[in-house]
Amino acid sequence: MAKARSPLWTDVDYEAPGKQVGFLHMPHSVTRSAYGTIPIPLAVIANGSGPTVLLMAGNHGDEYEGQAALCDFVRKVDPAEVQGRIIVLTATNLPAAVAGTRTSPLDDGNLNRAFPGDPTDGPTGKIAHYLDTVLFPMCDATHDFHSGGASLDYLTLATMRLSGDADLDRRARAALDAFAPPLAMVWAFTNEPTLSSACALSHKLIALGGEFGGRGAVRLEGIRVIEAGMRRFLDHLGVMEAPADLPPPPRPRYVEVPDRSWYVYAPERGLFVQAVDLGAEVEAGDLAGQVYFPEDPGRSPVPCHFRQSGLVICQRTMGRVERGDCVFHLARDID
Ligand SMILES: [Zn+2]
Repeated sequence: MAKARSPLWTDVDYEAPGKQVGFLHMPHSVTRSAYGTIPIPLAVIANGSGPTVLLMAGNHGDEYEGQAALCDFVRKVDPAEVQGRIIVLTATNLPAAVAGTRTSPLDDGNLNRAFPGDPTDGPTGKIAHYLDTVLFPMCDATHDFHSGGASLDYLTLATMRLSGDADLDRRARAALDAFAPPLAMVWAFTNEPTLSSACALSHKLIALGGEFGGRGAVRLEGIRVIEAGMRRFLDHLGVMEAPADLPPPPRPRYVEVPDRSWYVYAPERGLFVQAVDLGAEVEAGDLAGQVYFPEDPGRSPVPCHFRQSGLVICQRTMGRVERGDCVFHLARDID
């Protein structure tokens, strides 16, 4: 059955050569604007024939390194240097990006849990549906730049997700090698079909991602890793030659997250006091932290422990926790 038609439209011509910076218009009918639209920024840089690559950021609104790096890229890129087509979304879930929040203030929608979306969904699901039905089918590859957002902090890393298609996974691994982040991570379990990467993989795209900072802040190192890695990624795909003065790529350390046992969750509501820092190497059974009870100081803190041995790549940034909040996750080395 054919997928339903998207209600989003654009004046940008995906087939025209040159650089166009415009908008995807999403109908949004509210009291103050009955025939109003939400203008999601869209840039298309095209020249000659070649692959199509989608670069996107602001999937989560409070993750900023990709948003900044892609703004620079859109302004500076010369279409004459492109061989093929580059589509850029600097603020994919625009309402969330403008609000500086993970989810959209319009419908509380988490775009990276909204795929493949539907035209009858709220604004967030409509964006996912446009990507699934219009943009991903046009593309050969995509890179979705994330960070930890307000509640998490990550080591700077780029990622791929195993697709179950050995040839596609091999090509994604080659693209990740080319991007050459300091730390490269493979998501070895794919249990959420609602992710943008899972949707991109269903279209057989080379789909990279990454976590380039966190804390709701802007990490300069993350922007620099994206800028250099993105140019090597585009060069690898044959869309745009990397500049000659690009610094030599680091040799990435490769890690993977095999399953949920590599995550640590808060065991109680309270104040979480971590026992290790981001970047630590820990052993299974090591203390991860303890939940304190400032409202009940006579009560002993409740500990939680790592269930696996590995590298602490992610930690929670906020002191107060609810039972079930993720406070750490680990990854282990692969060759
Ligand atoms: Zn994210």
